This record gives sequence, C-alpha cells and structure tokens, in this order.
Amino acid sequence: MSKFIIVTGGVASSLGKGITAASLGRLLINRGFKVAVQKLDPYINVDPGTMSPYQHGEVFVTDDGTETDLDIGHYERFLNITCEKNCNFTSGKIYSSIIAKEREGKYLGKTIQFVPHVTNEIKEKIKSVENNNIDVVIVEIGGTVGDMEGLAFLEAVRQLRMELGQNNLLFLHCALLPYLEAAKEVKTKPAQNSVKELTRLGIQPDILVCRTNANIEVDNEMKQKLAMFCNLKGPEYVIQNSDAKCLYEVPLMLQSEGLDKIVCKQLKLKSKAANMTEWKKLVKKIIKPKKQITVGVIGKYIEVADAYISVTEALKHAGYNNDVDVKVKLISSVDIETYGTQQMLSNLSGIVVPGGFGTRGTEGKIMAANYARVNNIPYLGLCLGMQIAVIEFARNVIGWEDATSSEFDIKSKHYVIDIMDDQKSILEKGGTMRLGAYPCSLTPNTVSFKAYGKKKISERHRHRYEFNNKFRTNFEECGMVVAGVNEKRNLVEIVEIPKNKFYVAVQFHPEFKSHPDNPHPLFLEFINACKN
Ligand code: GLN
Repeated sequence: MSKFIIVTGGVASSLGKGITAASLGRLLINRGFKVAVQKLDPYINVDPGTMSPYQHGEVFVTDDGTETDLDIGHYERFLNITCEKNCNFTSGKIYSSIIAKEREGKYLGKTIQFVPHVTNEIKEKIKSVENNNIDVVIVEIGGTVGDMEGLAFLEAVRQLRMELGQNNLLFLHCALLPYLEAAKEVKTKPAQNSVKELTRLGIQPDILVCRTNANIEVDNEMKQKLAMFCNLKGPEYVIQNSDAKCLYEVPLMLQSEGLDKIVCKQLKLKSKAANMTEWKKLVKKIIKPKKQITVGVIGKYIEVADAYISVTEALKHAGYNNDVDVKVKLISSVDIETYGTQQMLSNLSGIVVPGGFGTRGTEGKIMAANYARVNNIPYLGLCLGMQIAVIEFARNVIGWEDATSSEFDIKSKHYVIDIMDDQKSILEKGGTMRLGAYPCSLTPNTVSFKAYGKKKISERHRHRYEFNNKFRTNFEECGMVVAGVNEKRNLVEIVEIPKNKFYVAVQFHPEFKSHPDNPHPLFLEFINACKN
C-alpha cells in the first residue's frame, strides 16, 4: 500500500507549494522510495487546456497527451519522472465524471450529493495513483485554504485520513510568515489563522512549512510558538522554507531543516538519509558565477512569467551545462510590431519563438524570425515558433508575400501552415489537437540529428496546424531542410536552415522534457551556438 502526503497552502497563493512538494519528492526518491505525484485543482474548467496563459500560466503536456497544470512540469523536472493522466484533476473533471455516471444511471436512483458522491469521486481519483510499485504519493491541493472551491477536496482528504490512519496519510501545510518592515518583525498570526481554518474543517496539519524572505531566521523559539499555537507535536514539525537563489536549492534547504526526516518518522518509513551528493554538485554548478548571455523569448503573454516557465527552465538547464548564465528576456511580439526589431532585438545572443495561439502578435514574431535569419543569430522555434519560421521563409526567401497559416485570419494562396487531412480525422473523432508524444525520425547530417545523436526520437505535441506538404519541395529547393518527420503520418516535424549558424524550428515542445540534471539536446546545442 502507498502512503499519502497531502499538501495544502495558506495565507496567500504563489507560496511555492508545488516547489515544496516537488523538493520533498526529490528527497524521498533519494532515500530510495518510489514516489508519484498528483495535483488537484479546485477550479471548474475540466483541464487548463482551455484557459488563457494570462489566467493560469503555461499548460504542461504529458507523454500521454494530458493537458495539465504547470506544477506537473516542476514535478517532472525535480523528480525525473513521467507523469500520466491521473496526475491532475480539477473540480470540472470530477463533476463531469459524476454527471456522466448519473446519465448512465450508475447511482441507482439516488440523490447525488456533495457528501458522499463528490467526495467519493475525489477519493477514488486520489487512490487511482496508488499501486504496489509506489511507496509515497504526494497530493498537492491547489488554491488557498479558505477558498470556497477547495472545500470538497479538503473534505475528501479529511475522510481519507480517517480511513487510512495517521501513519499512512500525512497533512503538510505551507503558509507564509510575512516580514513587517516597519516593525522589523516576522509575523506568525496569519499562518496560525490559516491552520485554524484547516482545523475548522476537521484537518489538523502534521507539519507546517513556513515560507519566509531570504535572510530571515525562524528560530527555535518561533518554531516552538508556532507548534504550540498550531497544535503540532513539536518544533521539529515546523520547517522553514526561505526564498532561494535558485529553485533547485530548495530540496537541500528543506533537507537541512529536517523535512524528509520528520515525514518518514510520521509515516513510519524506514530508510537511510537522502544521498544528495549529485544534487549538491548540480546546485554548485548553477550558482557558480559565470559569463552571462541574454536570450530573447518572443511571446505575447509576457506579463505572466509562468506562461513560458518550461521554456525558461529548459534554457537555464542548457546554460548550467554550457557553463554560461542564461538570462531570459521575455519580449512582447506586439512591441516588436510597434517599435521595430532594431530597438527590441539588438544585443541578444539568441532568439526563441515559443508556442502560442491566435493571430495577435504573430507579425512581430515573423519579424523576429526574419531578424534572426538575416543577421545569423541563433534561432530556436518551438511549435508556433516553427510555423512562424516557415512563414517567414516563404515570404522572404521563396517570395510568396501572402504566405501565412490558415489559423490567422488572412486570405491567401499560400497557406504554408494548414490543417492536414490527418488532423481532420482527429477533429472528426472529437479531438481538437495533436497532443502528447509522437515519434519522429531525424535526417542524417542535420543539426538536430547531431544534437540527439540518434535517428528515432519522441517528443510532445500540442497544436492543430502543420507544415503544408503541398509546398515542401519549394522550401527544399530554396535551402530549408526537413530535419525530422513523423513517418506514419507524413508530417514535417523539424526544419533547419543549414546556411545559418543555428536555425532550428520544431513542431513539438522539447521544453517539456528538459531536466536540470539532464538538459534537452536541442536546447544544449542552441545555447552552445549562442555562447560562441
Ligand atoms: N497555434 C498553433 C497550432 O495550433 C501552434 C500551437 C502551439 O504553439 N502550441 O498549430
């Protein structure tokens, strides 16, 4: 049987609950345990797939094609695991499954109620992660304690604790300890109140993780006070989690606070201390001072840094392993349209055009791709960024001024990016996008082939439109090389311009598979080109 750790948050959102949970997972894995994760999001959308990045940040996609919360990305990066469809549930997904069962008559005429039907459904989803190979399941509940939407989830885990017992299910609550500048004091009252809110719902947390600013010490006296007021077994159940220089330092910080030790004690899990030697080497490499380069990421949701979190992380991972400090500059493609490339893009070592949807800002992205190609600045196109590279090439090299994608609302004779027949069949089957992992075969003697070092790869997708094969020879005759294809569906997956130092654009999302200790080969090659 698996043990469960339920992670909740209090006082404020953006406390780094996900990073805390992921760091704990890393520590448990390094103690030798098999760990699985799950994120429960209380909002009503069935999944974040339909939500604007402004609302929710990035949509992370798993191998099996599930569109998930961006915290799943943190879990994959920290734990080096591959998550599956049961890793993320929302209220919307829970309700739609209940309503489908109701329509099928599965409730045998009963009135369907919040308790037990909604809570049972949630418990079932949580237990769906459990299996004989998994020692610990970490379940993070999104939102903040006190949110109306979260009630069903909290009630479900309260019941689950009764069923499984305190040595099999543990409550870990993350709360903020604000620092008041004027009083020069750290305040514990908001954290105490958020624990009170939890206990009002029948949940007594076992461990309290306190988020603080850097340079602040939660000393033993304060831990004792918090333990006393929050009804914890002792000060060692209060863990400080202060702002770190880099995300990947957090597991080490939590280890020195004794988090994994106290978790194992409570859950009666026996093991040696976590061996973090390799992780320490990684962190040392990350924080070591080194030459800085600036890479521009040309997006349109740039006000929300989380909208491009996997891209930013993948660039940084490649930097750690290229011995350069990659500064990621998020640049608005709409501003490029207004102010021009010279003003917006000079002084960049490389240009990335990431994924995106809709027409707004696409002309600015095409201008950025043109600037990179003409000035021989390393260019990496990701999903929409590949489509943009193809359009730019068609307009300015092949000479089709009207070249565009049929996604954008423009009349044209040259839809070089279009819905392929193959995609029409996905749409007919009720799907909307090409989602999840697909195989790709690489062309020998290309940058991509050299980067991956093998012929067959698999990468994750999330898009509707494709390179239009009708025009493929026109591109090849003018110097664009098809470096990767999906053989079964005859789809172009990678294009390159060999004349340039580094000009690679891919129809998939390699950023989802980059890890700090195992950076993605395309990002590695891209940063290598940028640093020279
Ligand atoms: N909007 C494009 C498509 O649907 C690209 C999507 C993306 O970048 N993820 O094909």
